[in-house]
Amino acid sequence: MGLTPSVWAGKADSDARINGLRVWSGPDHTRAVFDLSAPVEYRLFRLDNPPRVVLDLNNTRLQTRLQVNNNADIRSIRHGRQGKHNLRLVFDLKKNQRARSFLLPPNEKYGHRLVVDLSDVKSTQKVKKSAQTTHDKHRDVVIAVDAGHGGEDPGATGASGTREKHITLAIARQLARAINAEPGMKAILIRDGDYYVGLRKRFEKARKHQADLFVSIHADAFYDPKVHGMSVYVLSQKGASSEAAKWLARSENKSDLIGGVKLDDKDALLARVLLDLSQNAAMEASQKVAKEVLTALSKIEKPHKKHVEKANFAVLKSPDVPSILVETAFISNPQEEKRLKNHRFRQQVATAILDGIRNYFYQAPPPDTWIANRVKASKDQPGRHIVARGETLSGIAQKYRLDVHSLRKANKKKNDHIRSGEVLVIPTG
Ligand SMILES: [Zn+2]
Repeated sequence: MGLTPSVWAGKADSDARINGLRVWSGPDHTRAVFDLSAPVEYRLFRLDNPPRVVLDLNNTRLQTRLQVNNNADIRSIRHGRQGKHNLRLVFDLKKNQRARSFLLPPNEKYGHRLVVDLSDVKSTQKVKKSAQTTHDKHRDVVIAVDAGHGGEDPGATGASGTREKHITLAIARQLARAINAEPGMKAILIRDGDYYVGLRKRFEKARKHQADLFVSIHADAFYDPKVHGMSVYVLSQKGASSEAAKWLARSENKSDLIGGVKLDDKDALLARVLLDLSQNAAMEASQKVAKEVLTALSKIEKPHKKHVEKANFAVLKSPDVPSILVETAFISNPQEEKRLKNHRFRQQVATAILDGIRNYFYQAPPPDTWIANRVKASKDQPGRHIVARGETLSGIAQKYRLDVHSLRKANKKKNDHIRSGEVLVIPTG
């Protein structure tokens, strides 16, 4: 009472404070996030020999210890005062890097933040043409596996503190391993560490690798801890339409290949038609894969909903790569949180997702793939059977009403060992 703001807000008290520092590294960038008590005015510049990034912050005080442990890019962070109220932070880098920075307003988890992104100078990394890797001229089906959230974005948190971002990464890695063990399939991980990748960047990475499928892994939360079960999502029609408009509006997108065609030299109507065609094909495929994956997951437990759900998720908006999102469980449900932490349960989930994916690609293999060739071989020569995962020799024998000995003999097998993707001769007569 009676205190006017100018008296009350003495200069020193109006300084913003840095209350914390968090650092994450990805394969080609490092992100440092400073927690601030208020937005700050600052300037960022780079110095060479040795490489450094300098941040000059006006009216700012340091209220935390700046510590960086074993970072791929940052050797150390130093600080010093500049005059009475200004603060200088110096990042000593291990190599020359591009630096970008921006302020973030508060959200429900954090307050004001200053973000510094360091990325490799030659950041247009060579992308290995994964889709072209061949054995006997037929390429692998490429599955992009996306671990939801990461780094600054922890996702949902379970009652006992489990972070969704760690669970999704663990499942994604297990799924990628299972895919890579599968003949004719190859996985790429959209993120392989605790760092954030922008939502559009995620599907752009999948497109760059010419992925045949994009699978995003999540483990979400609901305010009711009793809610449980898995769900599988595809993009809604509304999400697809708004995305189409966005693609056509942006000229840099048009010079990109969409489903194998460039849109930039087409008139507006034709471009729209071509984009719709590729989007519809991708959405139809998404729906089919999602259904197969949901069916496979239902064998572990009753799913949250019996049908594939539709939502306007940004990460699913690739215009030409079929995309699905799997909610593996509700991390907000204490029992499911416990299961998600269990390696064996996660392996069950990964195996079921792969079962669904496999079923889809053996029904609709992309041309020129090893799987397409296998399927064709079995159709051209009646009396062949492609082994699906989990099948046994005796099970196959039963299916064709054979005894297992003659099946073994026809395939010159000494034992009952079979691999998924293997083509078996089915004796006739
Ligand atoms: Zn999530």
